[in-house]
Amino acid sequence: SRGPATILVTGGAGFIGANFVLGALARGQKVVNLDKLTYAGNLDTLTSVKENPHHVFVQGDIGDRTLVARLLAEHHPAAIVNFAAESHVDRSIDGPAAFVETNVVGTLGLLECARDYWRALAPAQAEAFRFLHVSTDEVYGSLGADGKFTETTAYAPNSPYSASKAASDHLVRAFHHTYGLPTLTTNCSNNYGPYQFPEKLIPLVIQKALAGEPLPVYGDGLNIRDWLFVGDHCSAIARVLEAGTVGETYNVGGNAERENITVVKTICALLDQRRPLADGRKRESLITYVKDRPGHDRRYAIDASKLQRELGWSPSQTFESGIAQTVDWFLDNQPWVQRVLDGSYRMERLGQ
Ligand code: NAD
Repeated sequence: SRGPATILVTGGAGFIGANFVLGALARGQKVVNLDKLTYAGNLDTLTSVKENPHHVFVQGDIGDRTLVARLLAEHHPAAIVNFAAESHVDRSIDGPAAFVETNVVGTLGLLECARDYWRALAPAQAEAFRFLHVSTDEVYGSLGADGKFTETTAYAPNSPYSASKAASDHLVRAFHHTYGLPTLTTNCSNNYGPYQFPEKLIPLVIQKALAGEPLPVYGDGLNIRDWLFVGDHCSAIARVLEAGTVGETYNVGGNAERENITVVKTICALLDQRRPLADGRKRESLITYVKDRPGHDRRYAIDASKLQRELGWSPSQTFESGIAQTVDWFLDNQPWVQRVLDGSYRMERLGQ
């Protein structure tokens, strides 16, 4: 018996990767989870699958060719899903080098190992093998008031983060065209939901608003992002992995464009209902405008109609249902957040 199909997931201790790993294990797949455990990797998120024999956690770098080649030879995955990345735009402004190291050089190492592994597979397995690269809509740059990013929009990355992701997307494309590696790429809009590291806008605002602290909003608060609930991103990736056409890219979005200030006010209103502040203040009064991020893209909007038309995917959550669920998750999981904030999450170790 061949047992359940194995996937090598990279970055599976991060926000989206861990949500994906939990879903894949729930569907009965076997997961080898390779993660370097940078500050963004959090094994607390994976405690529910600590004893699951279908989950093998390995601490390591996607750019470590010896390690990756060994994992591929040992576990014979049917697919690789690459989430591993430095992912925070503000950190990329302070220190771009780590972004190039992991997102570009690391992805190249992973691609080379994947190519060599794939070439040595038996024909039927080689035919079925997939390398899925998880990327962002930020590679397309900034939009004016109209229009949306499609899969054919020219790349125009503006931050060191998006430039490094754009470079990795191009390498993935080149590995398909040059070597025939069966790749797939997804470019997704901003995610939010359970287990998001509280440096990102939505969890940061939830935590500060809960504590009655000032809520920092960049610039005039009118920057627009499309927001997608993380579970919907994961279902899109699973769908592309299962039925996507090799060599293609798919945009993933929630059809949920919101100004940042609207996102913050929505969270304030939800928390005022659920946990009113003791002194009776409305949380909107905590909003504080701060100096804009340099090079801040004004608007992102994504056209995900290819994914819908060709593969029948659509998001299950609206922004309103997803954000309410997310606020409730953070209220119900304060110990998880506190261990991130006080640093103790970095003490947890799984497997080897
Ligand atoms: P994250 O920062 O929460 O997680 C990244 C994970 O990768 C962490 O667990 C980290 O330890 C690991 N990692 C970093 N460098 C590594 C390396 N060299 N080798 C192995 N592991 C390494 O990020 P996220 O928000 O979950 O994003 C996951 C992926 O999805 C990224 O590639 C990101 O570009 C992409 N993406 C994110 C969003 C979003 O809104 N968060 C939207 C679209 C695409």
